[in-house]
Amino acid sequence: MTENRIYVTQPHLPPLEEFIPYLEQIWSSKVLTNCGPFHQQFEQALCEYLGVKHISLFTNGTIALVTALQTLRISGEVITTPYSFVATAHSLLWNSIKPVFVDIDPVTLNLDPDRIEAAITPRTTAIMPVHCYGHACDVERIQKIADNYGLKVIYDAAHAFGVQCQHGSVLRYGDLSVLSFHATKVFNTFEGGAIVCPDAKTKKRIDQLKNFGFVNDTTVIAPGINGKMSEINAALGLLQLKGIDAAIQKRGVIDQTYRDGLTPIKGIRCVPDAAETVGNYAYFPIQVGPEYPMTRDGLFQKLHDHGIIARRYFHPLISEFPMYRGLPSSAAANLPAASKVAREVICLPIYPNLPPEQVEFIVSLIANQIT
Ligand SMILES: *Cc1c(COP(=O)(O)O)cnc(C)c1O
Repeated sequence: MTENRIYVTQPHLPPLEEFIPYLEQIWSSKVLTNCGPFHQQFEQALCEYLGVKHISLFTNGTIALVTALQTLRISGEVITTPYSFVATAHSLLWNSIKPVFVDIDPVTLNLDPDRIEAAITPRTTAIMPVHCYGHACDVERIQKIADNYGLKVIYDAAHAFGVQCQHGSVLRYGDLSVLSFHATKVFNTFEGGAIVCPDAKTKKRIDQLKNFGFVNDTTVIAPGINGKMSEINAALGLLQLKGIDAAIQKRGVIDQTYRDGLTPIKGIRCVPDAAETVGNYAYFPIQVGPEYPMTRDGLFQKLHDHGIIARRYFHPLISEFPMYRGLPSSAAANLPAASKVAREVICLPIYPNLPPEQVEFIVSLIANQIT
């Protein structure tokens, strides 16, 4: 029995004393927000770190998703995945867009490219895939479909900070990619988010929309929102960037320990990272199949009883929540793979300072060596 509870994640924080000089600078300049010096520096630093052309910081990932849809004036129907955090689809409802759920690939757990075309109607304007768990979508195939049908692609890249595919940052794919810097994510600014875009003109529109639609002191061109990241969060982000490579590397070690320990266990499937990518080890999802001696919920409870507070991400599916379940595409028969995975998945604890002996303990609990 462990005395202290182990949660699925623990926020990564820089040394407190290193943050003090940033705070002193804010206190002396009295610039607290409205795209001040830390905001600008952080945007620049992120572009360099992530290998992207333009980025616009936001107060959180959800407002960034809502604004990304407004930026491209998306309307009608948008094809998306039911296997995600609820904010993905909520961003569509906030824009009066009808979500059309398409099933996931049972191997990658990302939106299944083979099923997208059948869901396209004359009202479809865009696709909103998610790089689920930081595992890159099949970006080439999704782009091909989008090009064939004249659709926009907005990636919910909330899990995909720093993820690289064959041709560099995965965030360069699609028309826009949206990041979250929430406390629970690989890279955090307590709350925060961003939109990655390919050109200065689009960035300008995003920057206007996140500032009430102002283009200058007296002109407002759209019903924009207040989505600006404050100077405190931007300063924290600049500091967090210094430790991010080490943090991701530590996650990678834990990921490998889990894979080595769990892969031989009958009935347990470790979800693989996408081929030919550099991942970020944001989550460690396993699927508990019928060959395992316990049900998923049985194992979940056993872990809990031993102080391991794992999470059933993503269960229930977005399509099962009351505001979505009436949609034709929400029918379980339309989403067999997602429905199955939602019944099988458990995300295990993974964060940079998770002690290796805890990882071994979790592995042995799952290996049934401990009852
Ligand atoms: C965390 C998350 C969001 C929302 O981000 P916030 O910054 O918490 O608003 C959106 N989509 C996915 C897939 C997420 O995991």
